Amino acid sequence: MNLLVHGPAMIASHMPVSHPLKPGRADDAQSLITDPRNGWAELVTVVAPPMATDMDIARVHDLSYIAMVDRLSFPGAMGRVPSGEVKRFGFSSHGDNPPYPEMGSIARNVSGGVIHALQQVSTGNAKVAFVPSGGVNHHAMPATASGFGVFNDAAVGIAWARDRGMRVMYVDLDVHHGDGVEAMFASDPQVLTVSIHESTRYLFPGPPGGLANSIGTGPGTGFAVNIPMAPYSDDKTWMWAFEEIVPPLHGAFRPDITLVQCGADAYHADPLAHLLLTENVYVRVAERLRSISGGRLVAIGGGGYDVEATPRIWASMFAAFSGLPVKSNWLHGPKSAPILDPGASSRVMDEAKGVVDTLKQLVFPIHGL
Ligand SMILES: [Zn+2]
Repeated sequence: MNLLVHGPAMIASHMPVSHPLKPGRADDAQSLITDPRNGWAELVTVVAPPMATDMDIARVHDLSYIAMVDRLSFPGAMGRVPSGEVKRFGFSSHGDNPPYPEMGSIARNVSGGVIHALQQVSTGNAKVAFVPSGGVNHHAMPATASGFGVFNDAAVGIAWARDRGMRVMYVDLDVHHGDGVEAMFASDPQVLTVSIHESTRYLFPGPPGGLANSIGTGPGTGFAVNIPMAPYSDDKTWMWAFEEIVPPLHGAFRPDITLVQCGADAYHADPLAHLLLTENVYVRVAERLRSISGGRLVAIGGGGYDVEATPRIWASMFAAFSGLPVKSNWLHGPKSAPILDPGASSRVMDEAKGVVDTLKQLVFPIHGL
């Protein structure tokens, strides 16, 4: 069974319209995946999940933070909570994390979706499960909202799986460093996090995290992996770096389950970042992850601020993860992206080679590679 975990209670429909995050992307992905004209509808089961419980959320978030999310989840709540308190927990009216009505229940539903997906795949009920509304919360920290993230659904899911004794590999394809998820498991050798992103020297959330020499702490040293890419890295350079690092680590770590964050904001036309990926590389990386994980994985959404391309990329990735035929006319190919001149192209590749060399020196020996 190929599972799409989605429902109206997972959509932040009260998000301010001026915010770059358009929660309707997940609905649009569902429409593409279930449209009978696209050929996948009969092979997909759509499920609206149960909410995550407070105990599930509290595995990674402080109770005081959960209480603040709930206090801010009503119309006009900002005026009733001291502004210093609001700011301390990472919220603000006009910043990345404006509170909105029903924020707490929506965030619990999204986290519940990731738990449900992990449960269905780990018990063999589903081969592949995709939660398009998830993943975008990957910057949320234990006691603060960050980078559009409220409850860190990926981390809530990983913590749920860890509690059941599973070893989890988390692969974060988002153009931004998956700093929240990494931080929550940085000292845990049962969770291997890999984030491939535009270098934090140029993009949110900023250094020193996310650089190649940031590899986890204590017993988790070597189990947090970062692959920072230079701005304007293209399909060829990005896929080369992915291939050099991710499949060997997956083979050595042998996770019980693989969780993939499918941020589509490394796409060349994304307005928030500077990488040059095309649809083709998203499909290739999905096919590759399907192959190395034995076709058993959970995928979640992520960033993606080109509102036309993001649902199309996610629907294509879902098909590729599930071994269903991808619609070739949806893949516009490298010619649709800006072409780098040869000098710039070799500079981004040289930077990627430096990162890959560093990771092979620092991380691979810890995994017996
Ligand atoms: Zn992002």
